[in-house]
Amino acid sequence: MAITGAAELLGAWEAGLAEAPVGRALLLHRTARPDVDAGRLPSVPVGEREADLFALRRALFGERMQVRLACRACGADMEFELDAGELAGSLGGRSAAESVVRVQQDRWDVEFRLPGVADLTAAARSRDPREALLDRCLVSAVHDGTAVTAGELPVPVQRRIAEAVEAADPGADLALNVACPECGQATRAELDIASYLWTELDAWARDVLLDVHLLATAYGWSESEILALSPLRRRYYLELCADV
Ligand SMILES: [Zn+2]
Repeated sequence: MAITGAAELLGAWEAGLAEAPVGRALLLHRTARPDVDAGRLPSVPVGEREADLFALRRALFGERMQVRLACRACGADMEFELDAGELAGSLGGRSAAESVVRVQQDRWDVEFRLPGVADLTAAARSRDPREALLDRCLVSAVHDGTAVTAGELPVPVQRRIAEAVEAADPGADLALNVACPECGQATRAELDIASYLWTELDAWARDVLLDVHLLATAYGWSESEILALSPLRRRYYLELCADV
């Protein structure tokens, strides 16, 4: 993955300030996957998107991710570490052809598209999210040689579809059980990589703007000149400013 320059990252951050979390996640995904047509990103399978965001996180801020959460039983503050590189690798690596799963059971033959963010968002807005998701992502369903609709799928077949989707796109439901060091109870931690990464990007952007302010004041350089410096040189000049 190409590491995006500071100026482009600041641009993504600035655009994201006015957005809701869904829009911010999309901007981050666009930063992670400049090779994919922006219009197609919302239909990228959810687990694949997670892998893309973990890869972006690793490229921008490194492998180690500190996660904090409160124990659900006793409220103790817990901290644990995740490896962004490991997660990106274990979740990703699917070709476009594999984004459709096929379930064959009894006399049923069903093809189902792995849901993307656009599907989940639309389904969540409808009266019956599960039915809406089935309807949106069903590619074809045949029973005894006759085509049927999503509403005609029996519950066991629906369950098999859910299992097949989970197996094909495991990152879609990334949850970990963290044991509390105080009381021993496990707390289910669902890491939202998009909001985690946004928080980091936000802190980074504010630091960079401060650097620009300090260096522009000290040397009279323009913003684009300062952003074109490597982080190492920026740091070095800042140290020189602080010394005088
Ligand atoms: Zn506890």
